[in-house]
Amino acid sequence: MSTVTLTTRRVLRKADLREANERLILNLIRQTPDISRSDLVRVTGFSASSVSLIVNRLVRRGWVREIRPESNLQTGRPPVALRLDADSMLAIGVEISHERTRVAVADLDGRILRQKSLPWHTSANVFLGRLRTAIQAEAAACGEGKVLGVGVALPGTIRRDTGRVTAAESLGWFDIDVNGELARRSKFPFYYDNNAKLAATAERWYRKPGSPEIKDYVFITAQGGLGTGVVIDGRILHGADGEASEFGHTLLYADGRKCICGNSGCWEEYASDRALVRIYREKEKMPDNSAAVAPSAEEIVRLARSGDPLALAALSEVAHSLSLGFVNLIYALNPEAIIVGDCLAEAWDLIETEVWDGLRQRLPQRYLSRITIAPEQLGGDSILMGAVANVLSHYFTTFDHQRDGQVRGEVTFVSAE
Ligand SMILES: [Zn+2]
Repeated sequence: MSTVTLTTRRVLRKADLREANERLILNLIRQTPDISRSDLVRVTGFSASSVSLIVNRLVRRGWVREIRPESNLQTGRPPVALRLDADSMLAIGVEISHERTRVAVADLDGRILRQKSLPWHTSANVFLGRLRTAIQAEAAACGEGKVLGVGVALPGTIRRDTGRVTAAESLGWFDIDVNGELARRSKFPFYYDNNAKLAATAERWYRKPGSPEIKDYVFITAQGGLGTGVVIDGRILHGADGEASEFGHTLLYADGRKCICGNSGCWEEYASDRALVRIYREKEKMPDNSAAVAPSAEEIVRLARSGDPLALAALSEVAHSLSLGFVNLIYALNPEAIIVGDCLAEAWDLIETEVWDGLRQRLPQRYLSRITIAPEQLGGDSILMGAVANVLSHYFTTFDHQRDGQVRGEVTFVSAE
């Protein structure tokens, strides 16, 4: 019998328990293709009849397929393998940003099947209206009955319960009812969160089988500023109002540069895509009001790679400031990993040495002996795939199979049925 770790505060009804058990089994099948019913009994500690009930239900629903291997005279009949039918249901992921808005359709494995981009519009109403049309078109193409839900990621603070943006400075959105615009007359649920938090989720959700699990880490996004998604003991840090882990707006220099948040001297004014473009402009002696279009952060990284001295110098300044902020992060959170995304990921091999030199100068060795700092693994898709995972995580419950054989669910379970 598995030991129960009760991590939910509400009293669970029988239907909740059934659902929680089902989500655990479904996630095991997702993570372990070709797992058998007896494997599930062994791993979960559920009774064989409980596992059968749940698996039969999932097979009837079309989410799980049974694969009957050929009998072999020597070894007898091998167990029936279970596999997720990834195409049976679909999730829609939406990544909103000033630079790049995408709508993607993904299968139950979280694989992106197709995606399209949407141009930015300064009017939030116009933009969200067009986005709603794009989402509805994708849903219609999927067949609406197949859409599990829509996950939406954006830079800034959005209430996860209401889908209302409190403040998204880089978009110029304040107190905007995003859900009211997007979900109008929709037949499927919408799930919202901050883009850096979702990118952090993606690192855990899409972890390659067999790769070491990380539980305490920070994901850094650079899209119109510096976003940080903090994961502590495997859980995203949201804070009391969902506004936690805004490290981009922590103070690096008193009386420093004016930030879009209204304060001065914020970290992201010195270490972000926006900072890189601003520093490059200054080095190029492009006046602020110049009509000449400065290259984007990604273009500056490409210039640096081709040996452009101004681009290299601008990247070096950003690396220095990035390192200063990492010192604060590491002292505050003692993470085992920092994962950098966007232009910082593209530039990582060019700035890595300078960042590490800064850390070694300022941090005791014991903080640095175990930490890894690496670019994102999902090739620029971490935020979008995190938005998809935010939908899927409502149907699959991840859990850690501990060394002592105890199973700890994110929801809870005692016994099946
Ligand atoms: Zn700020």
